[in-house]
Amino acid sequence: MPSPLPTRLTIWQHLGTLWRGLLLAWRHLRAALGPRSHRLSITDAAYFQSGPTTLRYPYERLPVPERGRYRLHNAIDDCIVCDKCAKVCPVDCIEIDSIKSPISIGKTSNGMTKRLYAARFDIDLAKCCFCGLCTTVCPTQCLTMTPEYDYSVFDWAEHKVAFATLTPEEITVYQQALEVRP
Ligand code: SF4
Ligand code: SF4
Repeated sequence: MPSPLPTRLTIWQHLGTLWRGLLLAWRHLRAALGPRSHRLSITDAAYFQSGPTTLRYPYERLPVPERGRYRLHNAIDDCIVCDKCAKVCPVDCIEIDSIKSPISIGKTSNGMTKRLYAARFDIDLAKCCFCGLCTTVCPTQCLTMTPEYDYSVFDWAEHKVAFATLTPEEITVYQQALEVRP
């Protein structure tokens, strides 16, 4: 038996569905054109209720988890150049050269005496596997993971970050001072 022709009521139902669909699409379009209303962390329970999931990166960013492991930073003024971080690193991406000082050269912010200059303190972030071991052994907590996760470069060599701040002249002076020590 042939199906009955659409009734007047069915056509209105179709139009109503179409209208609701257009309204929904417009609401999503309008939300996507504006800034995200809440920049919730992915760990937040309401993350998927906070609007479109895409962001205008890099102009908008989501907060990263508090204990996330991202780019390393060494607050070199607090570093006692003990070499522990380099020794524990499983991929040998920390390179340190130290120069002994005949006398104390100051204190770290947690009260440890500094007796070594950091002639070189390089971390090759291209090799780093972000295990975080170096930060856990650091006795002065100067080596930390920052929330910075976007550090793309055009050349691998740029991932080798130098944290030491001594000039070549200062390095020469400190080395000579050690050599002439009685
Ligand atoms: S996070 Fe791990 S791999 Fe990276 S420098 Fe520290 S110890 Fe080495
Ligand atoms: S473990 Fe900490 S204090 Fe020791 S050399 Fe590494 S960054 Fe410096």
